[in-house]
Amino acid sequence: MEGAKATISAVFCSLLFMFCLGTSSQLFAFPPGHGPNAVVSAFLYTLSVLVLSDGLLRRSGKRLPLLGHLARLVSVVVSVAYFYYIDRQLLMRIYILNFGLGLILSATAWKLRHLRLGRASERFLFWILLAFAVHFFPRTVLTVGSNAPAAQGFGFSPFWLALQFSLAILGVALALALLAVTIGDTIEVLRRERATDPLTGLLNRRGFDECVISHLRTPNMRPVSLVVADIDHFKNINDAFGHQVGDKVLSGFGRLLLDMLGQAGICGRLGGEEFVVLMPNCGGSVARAFAERLRHEMRDNSFDGLPAAQRVTVSLGVAEARSRESVAELIARADAALYAAKRAGRDCVKYTN
Ligand code: GH3
Ligand code: MG
Ligand code: MG
Repeated sequence: MEGAKATISAVFCSLLFMFCLGTSSQLFAFPPGHGPNAVVSAFLYTLSVLVLSDGLLRRSGKRLPLLGHLARLVSVVVSVAYFYYIDRQLLMRIYILNFGLGLILSATAWKLRHLRLGRASERFLFWILLAFAVHFFPRTVLTVGSNAPAAQGFGFSPFWLALQFSLAILGVALALALLAVTIGDTIEVLRRERATDPLTGLLNRRGFDECVISHLRTPNMRPVSLVVADIDHFKNINDAFGHQVGDKVLSGFGRLLLDMLGQAGICGRLGGEEFVVLMPNCGGSVARAFAERLRHEMRDNSFDGLPAAQRVTVSLGVAEARSRESVAELIARADAALYAAKRAGRDCVKYTN
């Protein structure tokens, strides 16, 4: 996940770099000569726009096919070269580059239209991207009539000045939007990491508490029940088979919990070999039935690194939330039921009213 985000940040950086190279190549007339300069700057601008599109689509889990990339790049560059070296027409070169880039970016904005409903930085990025995409079209009005730029004095034509002005404003806005989204993504990753147990991928105590607090506050989630599970004699597993095998049992139990629970609730690892499940819209009897099924599944489950005949069992405590009960109170009641299950000989479920 973080690797993917780092790649996307690198993609955004390289796009801005290529865009700068494209602008520099025009401003500093490098490579010298109108023909090579037109072709090289068209190549750099188109590549930067394709890299931007690719980075943005990847960020949303989508891809721009490589062949499509190449086809667009080659067609823009070849057409610009054609209208310089074979049929010299400045206007055609302007149209190809502006409409080409505008169309590529408009298609990207369309594919990313879900961002307009995202968080603030994503909404900002979407609207700036759309403005950036669309701005390539109205500017070409400045290429008709007496405003039409000529090869001589092109650098002083209203078209060129409007182009530089709009690129400067929208380019900076786009760079800021990309920065805001990248920072937002990084914060999101850190926030998720802060709330996640790295061994099992379940919520940790902090993440679980935050989640439960918001659920308990939602009246239409009632009734709500809580199941606390603790693996029996887990220390013996560590002692007999090693800490790494113990870790595999913990992650295996986490997977079992997730598979069995599906969308029916939220589960977390409170610490050590103690797990917890919040079941919204579930009364105590339904939660109890779930706990019994989990107990049976655990008995029948085999774990990586353990002999096939080795059984691992779990004890469970179940409590239904009372009105206005705090998370800590609810967990404490379910914990009390869990310890009653331990005292009753383990591998059983106890319920508290
Ligand atoms: P009981 O049936 O009463 O619950 O006994 P138990 O052995 O399961 O409980 P106890 O509290 O005595 O031991 C829990 C052990 O869990 C001790 C600790 O070393 C181990 N443990 C805690 N966190 C981890 C972990 O992340 N990985 C592994 N492998 N072991 C852990
Ligand atoms: Mg235990
Ligand atoms: Mg324990």
